[in-house]
Amino acid sequence: MNNSIINFPLPANEPVKAYMPGSPERVALEKELERQSKLVVEIPIIIGGKEIRTGDMGEVTCPHDHQHVIARYHKVGKKEVEMAIDAAMKAWKEWSCTPWTTRAAIVMKMAELLATKYRPIMNAATMLGQSKNFFQAEIDSACETIDFFRYNVHYASKIYAMQPKDGVAQLNHTEYRPLEGFILAVTPFNFTSIASNLCMTPVLMGNVALWKPSTTALLSNYYLMQLYKEAGLPDGVVNFLPGSGALIGEVATESKYFSGIHFTGSTATFKSLWKQASMNVDKYISYPRLVGETGGKDFIFVHPSADPKAVATAAFCGAYEFQGQKCSAASRMYIPKSLWAGVLEDMKAMAAEVKMGDVMDPSNFINAVIDKASFDKAKSYIDFAKEAEDAKIVMGGNCDCSKGWFVEPTIIETSNPHFKSMEEEIFAPVLTVYPYDDEKWEEVVKECDETSPYGLTGAVFGRCRMAVEKITDALRYTAGNFYINDKPTGAVVGMQPFGGARASGTNDKAGGEFNLIRWIIPRVIKETLVSPTDYRYTYMK
Ligand code: NAD
Repeated sequence: MNNSIINFPLPANEPVKAYMPGSPERVALEKELERQSKLVVEIPIIIGGKEIRTGDMGEVTCPHDHQHVIARYHKVGKKEVEMAIDAAMKAWKEWSCTPWTTRAAIVMKMAELLATKYRPIMNAATMLGQSKNFFQAEIDSACETIDFFRYNVHYASKIYAMQPKDGVAQLNHTEYRPLEGFILAVTPFNFTSIASNLCMTPVLMGNVALWKPSTTALLSNYYLMQLYKEAGLPDGVVNFLPGSGALIGEVATESKYFSGIHFTGSTATFKSLWKQASMNVDKYISYPRLVGETGGKDFIFVHPSADPKAVATAAFCGAYEFQGQKCSAASRMYIPKSLWAGVLEDMKAMAAEVKMGDVMDPSNFINAVIDKASFDKAKSYIDFAKEAEDAKIVMGGNCDCSKGWFVEPTIIETSNPHFKSMEEEIFAPVLTVYPYDDEKWEEVVKECDETSPYGLTGAVFGRCRMAVEKITDALRYTAGNFYINDKPTGAVVGMQPFGGARASGTNDKAGGEFNLIRWIIPRVIKETLVSPTDYRYTYMK
């Protein structure tokens, strides 16, 4: 019986490796890329630790080389989802009562395994499957995933230490129980770290999960399952269900044991899951926890006092890294007309320098968007702008799907602050810019606040600190993560806990105590040391 109080201090962030030519990490990653490129992995369903093969198959291809199949996966049917619920509830009996320090030890081991043996495996799978370059893979599938593991253990230790005070002749304590059922984790394609975190945060707090991975991120997500097993996660705690999200969502939300959803993806998908849960609310043992991080229309607001060079760099990196497929990616910019020509010239110079192509070539800054649907969507917005009277393409605008799903870094300039691509999420390397008359900046701040339904990330640039303060206040509800003189992407665990409100999500801040708290139901226990035996109060005697 473990009765020690273990301390999990605030960890340091996992250092980002440089991948210089010839460095040990570069050699290991190149070798692993080579190995994985030659494989077609068969991905099974995993329920209660057992691999299940339905024979109903789907394919995973490289976005930058869409004829290159890297995996084939078995799809779940209704029967497998029901089996997964049974397996999860069986595992719940032991896992929900396992000492939290044992759960923490398993999660800490996941971090160590990922920092070492699994680092090249996860990075290579994320590069090939999700079209991330060396740097984008390293900051996601290695560093952020590791940080989520370690920081969540630290935050959990703080939560468990939060206890009520004792009174006279009484002892009080709070027992932080896991939810009474299973969590449905529905994860997006764009971050391996998010895919891991959506399962592992509830699991760390003693919950069990049905995991619906994104079909386009299946390769890296399957390796995560292997990592969890090697770290000692018991069978059935996470059940891996590739296949149709609509089917899995429907079956899972009909179960009386459905106790929560941990979601990241588009606003429309989250709303549909929320509606399904609402329809079934009478069936559930408890009110389910609905936690979702969803879409965005992230902005850069430039004040006339801004440094144009800093704006150009932030807009370029914020809009185009990982092909604009970070939920935080800059996708609309408000800029004073006096600064626009210079900023555009600088951005064009950067675009002329960067290369676009396969992830295997480290000189490529831009890779492919995730799939055909994404490519078609981006192209349709670009084509719309080409035809529009109140907009024009001033940079990029070419798309090429002959080998991979490539969309050039593109700028749409518009004279209409409500132009379609100023309001709607595209999720591709397309930035729409609205140049405004310098003296009207206060009116335009209001436009920025009222233009889109989202509230995820935003940035303000300005050297006049008083104006920056005013803009920050006026844009108070536009973003859950707000940046001053920096690009709106690149949140780091432990430094900028991430999440947005309005149509962007429930803002439960991944990588922080707010999120962990959603996965527990506290029970407060009062123990009276000597129980009273007289019902009368003193004044009555
Ligand atoms: P998506 O909504 O298409 O898919 C997300 C997940 O939901 C996938 O696993 C998918 O298979 C599943 N799914 C799809 N339809 C479903 C249904 N009807 N029922 C149940 N599950 C279903 O999103 P995506 O394309 O993977 O990711 C891109 C979106 O994610 C963007 O909108 C982006 O802004 C958002 N995102 C937000 C954050 C954030 O923190 N706010 C982070 C990353 C991504």
